[in-house]
Amino acid sequence: MNDIKLKILEVTKRRGFYWKSYEIYGGLGGFYDYGPLGASLKDNILQLWKDYFVTKEGFLLLDSPNIGPELLYIASGHAEKFTDYMVKCKKCGHVFRADELLKGHVDNPEKLDAEGLWKNIKEKGIKCPDCGGELTYPEKFHLMFSTRVGMDKNAFLRPETAQGIFINFPIFYRLNREKLPLGVAQIGKGFRNEISPRQGLLRLREFNMAEIEVFIDPQEKFLLGDVRNISLPLLTREGKEYRITVEQAVKMGILSEPMAYFMGKIIIFLEKIGIDIKKVRFRQHSREELAHYSRDTWDCEVLLSYGWVEIIGIADRGDYDLKRHMEYSGKDLRAFRRFKSPKKRKIKRLRARMEILGPLFKNDARKIAEILENMEYEGGNIEILLEDRKIKIPKNAYEVVEIEESVGGERFIPQVIEPSFGIDRILYAILEHSYYERKDSGYKVLKLKPRVAPIKAGIFPLVSKEPLTTKALEILKIIRDSGVSCYYDDSGSIGRRYARADEIGVPFCVTVDYTTEKDNTVTIRERDSTLQKRVRISELPEILELLSDEKINFESLDENV
Ligand code: AMP
Repeated sequence: MNDIKLKILEVTKRRGFYWKSYEIYGGLGGFYDYGPLGASLKDNILQLWKDYFVTKEGFLLLDSPNIGPELLYIASGHAEKFTDYMVKCKKCGHVFRADELLKGHVDNPEKLDAEGLWKNIKEKGIKCPDCGGELTYPEKFHLMFSTRVGMDKNAFLRPETAQGIFINFPIFYRLNREKLPLGVAQIGKGFRNEISPRQGLLRLREFNMAEIEVFIDPQEKFLLGDVRNISLPLLTREGKEYRITVEQAVKMGILSEPMAYFMGKIIIFLEKIGIDIKKVRFRQHSREELAHYSRDTWDCEVLLSYGWVEIIGIADRGDYDLKRHMEYSGKDLRAFRRFKSPKKRKIKRLRARMEILGPLFKNDARKIAEILENMEYEGGNIEILLEDRKIKIPKNAYEVVEIEESVGGERFIPQVIEPSFGIDRILYAILEHSYYERKDSGYKVLKLKPRVAPIKAGIFPLVSKEPLTTKALEILKIIRDSGVSCYYDDSGSIGRRYARADEIGVPFCVTVDYTTEKDNTVTIRERDSTLQKRVRISELPEILELLSDEKINFESLDENV
């Protein structure tokens, strides 16, 4: 068993990181359960993500529902455009994503339309991978899960968390004291009815996302701050490869400032959580591959045993989403840009004609007049929103007058940059990039970073005998009380126990031995170097906390006995 994915599969299942959901009922493709170690690993990744991308950036958090009304997804464009092409085997009936079958045969098969896919399937002689049968002509398959709210309201499970953020823009804008750039982040589930998912955590039908929508004023300079010198591995849509700094990428016109800024941040973050950044690149989407909402997208990809896999998408969504939601909801989702000094300009205002409005709208006439007189006339027919009712105003109910006004600013639709993180893929990539086997023994090790590791310490008596066991259990309680996750193990030889700890990425093991009784000290063993240092029990909780939070490293730890 040389294939690393099989080794990861074996360890993660046996040790309870994750497994296929609903197995006692035959399973359900594309759904996974996270067990104790996987759930903690995921939480730790998300906590670091929140610290780094939300707290440190001064961004705001949202937690909005998974289910959204049909109109929301008509407005977002997903109801019409969120599809993939599928083909079916005429013999065994299995279905496949058409572009997946062409991977390795054609460059960028996701670019192709039905005709292009079909032509290549024929030309390359692609058959059903399960039984060798003939395949059907590619058909569009809709990826959103639909449901019903109450008896009759059509709704969808969200395919991304982003829409919850867009429709709440005015609230966040107010909460941010009407300042841009404004970043809003959301962590939550995304649901996509993927066509026959077969790649474990990499392609799920219910998955964990962490997304940020950054609203910016394109007329304001976006500062590169502390990431300007970070080196970015880039692969452009023309196939050119670069390794240049964030600042150079902007200067050369390859990336806009905000896109480059978040790519720099992503490199720092991935390194922090234990991704091997030598195996990371940013690949620009071809024009055909761009999602319906995107002006430019770069996928952050990592090299895994599956090949290059996208783990994060960084999209320039322009003003697409806010504009569409304005159109479909009739609400104003714009921001306000103040001029440096007030400008004089001619604008068209409306004068309400009460003699027409009065008989027509009775008690509502005054309110309608007020709305009309506060509007700027931009031509065309007028429809206003009054307490959620759309009301058409006849042309003879108002006059258009041109006046010169001194204006302090203008309304505009912000542009949006979106870094969208797939947490399950990141988690899997960490596992693959952390896995190695010891040269001497062949034992498996996950070199998880201490902050990411689900369990920070194992507490072992050297042998399973009194008084060592009692002492080790006392230490377990002290360490647990200090908030560091740890466990106790006294079964088998100490070597076996270290090996069991290494396999799940426990960075530190504390051993109680015969010296402990004499001088109240224990050893701490570090997983990767296997070096041991002796420390006082009284100082152990603080030392383990500092080591787990990566505030100190093991090499610099003084033996203080
Ligand atoms: P996208 O909006 O398609 O760019 O997706 C954002 C991120 O979500 C991707 O970079 C992936 O990491 C992750 N992702 C998308 N689809 C899936 C899926 N079916 N299973 C697991 N993760 C996914």
